[in-house]
Amino acid sequence: MSDDANPAVLRDAREAVVEHAPDLAQLTPGRTGNLSVREGDRFAVTPTGVAYDAFDAADVPVVDLDGERVAGRMAPSSEVPMHRHIYRGYGSEAIVHTHSPWATTMAVLHRELPPIHYMIVAVGKRVPVAEYAPYGTEELAANVVAAMEEANATASFIENHGLVVTAADIETALEHTTHVEDLSRLYLQSSAVGEPTELPEAELDTAIEQFEGYGQDDDQ
Ligand code: 13P
Ligand code: ZN
Repeated sequence: MSDDANPAVLRDAREAVVEHAPDLAQLTPGRTGNLSVREGDRFAVTPTGVAYDAFDAADVPVVDLDGERVAGRMAPSSEVPMHRHIYRGYGSEAIVHTHSPWATTMAVLHRELPPIHYMIVAVGKRVPVAEYAPYGTEELAANVVAAMEEANATASFIENHGLVVTAADIETALEHTTHVEDLSRLYLQSSAVGEPTELPEAELDTAIEQFEGYGQDDDQ
């Protein structure tokens, strides 16, 4: 265990992990799932096997993009390989991994999420399924990055495991995780009654353009 609990190392990222880890309780059962926040070539990540309200900023492990722990009292998530490979591949700033029930149903079915609703463009035009490998392995990390890159998506299901989402900040990563969870539920509910319809590519492009101007103007 690192003896460098100095909370000055990646202070903001570690505080963001402490603040947002409890949000995982709404999304994923028990101690499953994890999240991280990157700053430069290091990231703060939830500790492995610990309840998400049971640690403070000095406990939060800080890991570099080679996977070496550089600070924090607790041992990092077993999914450090997945987090570091996504950061290396995407240059994103935050990652959320869950075993949320509707997304994990898709993962169990090995079913990618097609564009059944315009909100999918938050993470791409479809959500792919990464090939199974044991949790925490380099092989799983490579499978996840390959699936996301092939689909040009910032989210992927993981066969017989769960969901991973990356974004520009932790709030957005959590919000997009909720979108994928909700869209998975819509897809599975509509599949139970009939054949879900898909939006054409041109409508997805329109939705992407609309989102570029969505929300309140900065000067309001
Ligand atoms: P950690 O507690 O090690 O983060 O593992 C949870 C998990 O979901 C592994 O895939
Ligand atoms: Zn997991």
